[in-house]
Amino acid sequence: MSPFKLLLVAGTHGNEINAPWLFGQWKKKPSLINANGLNITKVIGNPLAGNKCQRYIDRDLNRSFSPELLENFGINDLETCRARELLSEHGPLGADPSQIVVDFHSTTSSMGSSIVIYGRRSVDLAIVSLIQKRLQLPIYLHEGDNDQTGFLVESWPCGFVVEIGPVPQGLIHNQIINQTFFVLQTCINEISNVINKKAVFPDKLIIHRYLKNIDFPRDSSGVPNAFVHSAIQDKDWHPINSETAIFINLEGDSLKLSNYIKENEEVVPVFINEAAYSEKNIAMILTKKEVLDFEKSWAKDLYELVNN
Ligand SMILES: [Zn+2]
Repeated sequence: MSPFKLLLVAGTHGNEINAPWLFGQWKKKPSLINANGLNITKVIGNPLAGNKCQRYIDRDLNRSFSPELLENFGINDLETCRARELLSEHGPLGADPSQIVVDFHSTTSSMGSSIVIYGRRSVDLAIVSLIQKRLQLPIYLHEGDNDQTGFLVESWPCGFVVEIGPVPQGLIHNQIINQTFFVLQTCINEISNVINKKAVFPDKLIIHRYLKNIDFPRDSSGVPNAFVHSAIQDKDWHPINSETAIFINLEGDSLKLSNYIKENEEVVPVFINEAAYSEKNIAMILTKKEVLDFEKSWAKDLYELVNN
């Protein structure tokens, strides 16, 4: 039997409750999801934050997997300890190691179902190519943002985040449950295809790579003095240009994108007005669309990972 193990995580953020609820139903009724013969471990990322329906207790668990935190044993806050615990149980050097991790989140932004990857690891690009080919999901590639690091999936050899939205924090929503269920089953199916050497990789991969974070305009005391313009609210993944108004204040004065980027540069905003990002001073993230040629080495690396 293949030693391959798949780790599925829900509730890394304690107030994103749809995937944890789905995992609970799946635990009660194992036939709910077709595991396709895969050896799957399901965990709740931050159960204590989940009990309180808070994003986290001491610090964001999904920024707690940086070596600076994990290896500094003077740091003992709840989430850093939980990150060490998850790694000691299911990490690549853990007691019960998994090779691939999928981390299920929800967002208050109108992003629909999407995938997030961190950097350009060949194995991640290979696996998300399969899911994009199957579901045509947009992929956000997070790279080059030194303020946002320490993501859970980066601590495993291969992994990605699934984001489903829009849904308020702490709310179970019919459509979000159904989307999470559908993407979850597709991830299992495609990973199973890789294990069984039946995967058919695409020729191209479309990604939206990180460009920059945009904060709200603020007054001298740091309070936002404008809000997201109706021209882009709920329009995640829609291209905008320098003439697009992105913020407006109560007097009706708007701020155009040209205040933030070079002229004539078409960009794509994501995580527009994500509630969890207000504490990070991020009103939206600008991305740039790229079409990558699928490289055979990505698939080779993925096959090597799952067969070792
Ligand atoms: Zn989250």
